[in-house]
Amino acid sequence: MMNKILVSACLMGFKVRYDGSEKAQMVDQLHRWQKEQRLVIHCPELAAGLPTPRPPAEIVSAEGKDVMPKQVRIVEITGQDVTEQYQLGAWLALRTAQESGCTAALLTDGSPTCGSQFIYDGSFSGKRKAGMGIAASLLTEHGIAVFSENRLADLIAWIDEKER
Ligand code: SF4
Repeated sequence: MMNKILVSACLMGFKVRYDGSEKAQMVDQLHRWQKEQRLVIHCPELAAGLPTPRPPAEIVSAEGKDVMPKQVRIVEITGQDVTEQYQLGAWLALRTAQESGCTAALLTDGSPTCGSQFIYDGSFSGKRKAGMGIAASLLTEHGIAVFSENRLADLIAWIDEKER
């Protein structure tokens, strides 16, 4: 069975990040996977109706997995509470992954939505901390293997193992 991969749209060159930029990682492997129709390109924040550009947002005082029950908030640098929009984005990412048959996700690290190894600490001072964004966390909880763009080699090995 071919394992399909949900991939952050910004990693594929779409200018959908909060500041209107992308984080393209169009390495050969991604080109190959795209030709095999293995990739499902998705931006949870855009899917939730957030505009580009948009103010940067950070998870306040907790990791992504604590955000879903509304124990903490996601706020923009303006102070605007955007928890509900980001939660919607996470659920839409999960639905997209499940409906497309994705077993893995390759997501942009550091994002309050897509981060998987680190996020920013909520102070908007550029300080990082270990943790997951809310979509990465929700996908993981539902059995989808999440990898950051820095772990592409791990994802390649994971796919090889599954399809051996
Ligand atoms: S939500 Fe994810 S896919 Fe969308 S811009 Fe942010 S990191 Fe990229």
